[in-house]
Amino acid sequence: MNDSTKSVWGGEEKYLIGGSTQVPIVSSVVFGYDDVEEWSDVILGKKDGYIYGRYKNPTVEAFEEKVRVLEGAEASVSFATGMAAISNALFTLLSPGDRVVSVKDTYGGTNKLFIDHLPRFGMDVSLCDTTDHEAIEKEINKGCNILYLETPTNPTMKLINIARLSKAAHEAGAIVITDNTMATPINQNPLQLGSDLVVHSATKYLGGHADALGGVICGSKDLVHKIYEYRMINGAPLDPNAAYSLIRGMKTLQIRIQRQNENAIEIAGFLTKQPLVEKVFYPGLPDDPSYELAKKQMSGFGGMLSFSLKGGLEAVNEFLPRLRFAHLAANLGAVETTVGPVHTTSHAECTLEERRAMGIPEGLIRYSVGIEDSADLISDLKQAFEYIENKTIV
Ligand SMILES: *Cc1c(COP(=O)(O)O)cnc(C)c1O
Repeated sequence: MNDSTKSVWGGEEKYLIGGSTQVPIVSSVVFGYDDVEEWSDVILGKKDGYIYGRYKNPTVEAFEEKVRVLEGAEASVSFATGMAAISNALFTLLSPGDRVVSVKDTYGGTNKLFIDHLPRFGMDVSLCDTTDHEAIEKEINKGCNILYLETPTNPTMKLINIARLSKAAHEAGAIVITDNTMATPINQNPLQLGSDLVVHSATKYLGGHADALGGVICGSKDLVHKIYEYRMINGAPLDPNAAYSLIRGMKTLQIRIQRQNENAIEIAGFLTKQPLVEKVFYPGLPDDPSYELAKKQMSGFGGMLSFSLKGGLEAVNEFLPRLRFAHLAANLGAVETTVGPVHTTSHAECTLEERRAMGIPEGLIRYSVGIEDSADLISDLKQAFEYIENKTIV
């Protein structure tokens, strides 16, 4: 199966009951048995089956299967949100005294876990300069239980070489986790590059319609089962209604990502020619520092970009409300273009100082390209630029 076929058919067959062509929403929180022995076998794991919604649910499993097929993984487990997936993975695999090596540019919530929460449990976290691979390798060699990567990063679209750092981490005996939310399995498969686990905020591109929260982790049976056992107790399973929305959204994943890849390249090119634009961050631009790695590691450059305006935050505040085909909202990866300043979106959890330390300019706009016609998006941007240009002249 190729990606578009996997998106449509992947993982569904087993769950199409009674001749239904769509995976049904099983909303029951418990599952009953006529035979007590069979019930007991399921509880003991001797037999496959469902007991209680916090453990397993058929609609939720169908979603997990679809992602598993797309990531080419052995196993997968889902969560109520992307952050639940990330924190469950970390708290399953870490113990006091353990050490995490990661980068400064991870998602704001993940960064908060690293700075505020893991240290409370006696875990040491070392956050390196995101693109300084030598510095990351040095930190790994000091001792490392988990190497946590995210590539491309949100919002400055920096890339990390997964294959190179996974090799270093494995030599140090560490487990590698990669947040693949930005790239999606259509543009990048971290497991094939050496990562042990891949995590997604399904809320973003996987669902694609900004109408369901979710998270998912894929990897080896052993690791995923460990995380699943922790989730059973910790809670935060994916809701079956959300699972259904995510499954429906994922049917168009390949076709959406293809369109978003194409739109983003056009828009990034347009933005580089705008006199009011200070800098464009997009790995698909040939002079972007991540361009060569992106060509090697990814099969598409993605639908996310960011750019800063010469007038700083003041210009951003004037510019954004002029856009007609863009929601001003803290989301990304949806069919509609979504836009926002960084301090209210990906890094709302962080202080100004923390954002500065991460190298995020205050006048930065995060632009998540939708599946609209690129000519319409470009003329929309054009009229907003003209507005602020005229305003400065007046
Ligand atoms: C949004 C996001 C998350 C968190 O996902 P939620 O579903 O909002 O909990 C994690 N990583 C990245 C890269 C994200 O963009």
